[in-house]
Amino acid sequence: MSSFDVGIVGAGVHGASAAYHLASRGVRVAIFEHTTPAGGPTGRSSAICRAYYTNPFLAAAARDSIAMLRSFPELTGRDAGFRQTGFFFLHPPEDAEQVRASVATLNAAGIEVELLSVGEVAGREPGFDLEGVGIAAYEVGAGYADPHATTEGLFARAVELGAEARLGRAVTSIEPDPTGGGSIVTVDGTRTACGRVLIAAGPWTRPLALQVGADLPLTVERHIVATFRWGAADPVPAHGDLIGGYYFRPEGEHLFLAGHVHPAPRADPDGYADDVESDEIEGLARLIVRRVPRLSESETQGGWASLYDVSPDWQPVIGEIAPGIFVDAGTSGHGFKLAPALGGHVADLVMGAATDPRLADFDPFRFERGARLDAGYRDARILG
Ligand SMILES: Cc1cc2nc3c(=O)[nH]c(=O)nc-3n(C[C@H](O)[C@H](O)[C@H](O)COP(=O)(O)OP(=O)(O)OC[C@H]3O[C@@H](n4cnc5c(N)ncnc54)[C@H](O)[C@@H]3O)c2cc1C
Repeated sequence: MSSFDVGIVGAGVHGASAAYHLASRGVRVAIFEHTTPAGGPTGRSSAICRAYYTNPFLAAAARDSIAMLRSFPELTGRDAGFRQTGFFFLHPPEDAEQVRASVATLNAAGIEVELLSVGEVAGREPGFDLEGVGIAAYEVGAGYADPHATTEGLFARAVELGAEARLGRAVTSIEPDPTGGGSIVTVDGTRTACGRVLIAAGPWTRPLALQVGADLPLTVERHIVATFRWGAADPVPAHGDLIGGYYFRPEGEHLFLAGHVHPAPRADPDGYADDVESDEIEGLARLIVRRVPRLSESETQGGWASLYDVSPDWQPVIGEIAPGIFVDAGTSGHGFKLAPALGGHVADLVMGAATDPRLADFDPFRFERGARLDAGYRDARILG
């Protein structure tokens, strides 16, 4: 039986990032993936990268991740496809006090965010109908990346640094070792002893965690992304509409994409519709055209659906769930842009190094203690 210091289950962007950081530190890592890197929800992510968070730790992780995406070629020898677009956040009046406080905190953390009145937004982007907007913010350095290129880049660099890839085989069980860590067993019967285990299996995390005695309150939701061709419409900037409840970004030169901000019905991760119905696209298009009337000239281009693994407060669950067995999941639809830098914090945790004390706030068992995180805006907790 082969053995490793750390075994990681899942090569979405979180597992790949942890593998990259651990391998960079000379840790012997094996990474187990049922499909391929980014073969799950990561590969269907809208991959918007903004550090506009109300939680200071997540804001810092996103800030540091965006810096990594910018310097990806130097770090990994590859391109993450990061493109800076800037991003408008359009809020209802009742968010004003929280937005003002948050913008000040973000700027103090080195994240350039402008606080804008409704008149200032109208002056900059006359294409918006600002009905219902009371205050806005603009994050200068926000953008989006290519989720496949990012994950594959982290994964490939980890392998170059010595990580072992076990692709195309599902992990069927994790057998805890009384001294810590455990054996990872794959569908072909192969057993691998791992001094420590990290479960980063996205929507499939809960049943794996149950095997080691941790019942985590994670649920799974199906979320759609719709794509459109600009057509005759002039492009509009990337934005999040917290009144209409959607996000929006350009996709290359000719397209834009959008999705909803609010919770969606629960789904079975092993049996859900991964395509998108025309009425779902039309519902989203109506919200967009209400905010940007000139986009009535745009043309539907289809879309897709994928899964969010959601925690009760819509913030990640990161921590030790059994001796030497850790989890990094529950990213609730906003974890892509956290992953590149968060993987370094997760590597600290797994290796027993000193961690940022704020990481403890994401303890997977916090809900039992009534210590939910109060992050995001009203029911748009996805903003974190
Ligand atoms: C439609 C959509 C839009 C999104 N938009 C954004 C956005 O704009 N910005 C943002 O920051 N975030 C966004 N997100 C969220 C972000 O994509 C996720 O938070 C992130 O990709 C989660 O990564 P992960 O590695 O935790 O999980 P996953 O991507 O779910 O990866 C888990 C991996 O584990 C593997 N696995 C599971 N079980 C097993 C097993 N038993 N054995 C072996 N392998 C296993 C799976 O095959 C999968 O590859 C979006 C998500 C979706 C679905």
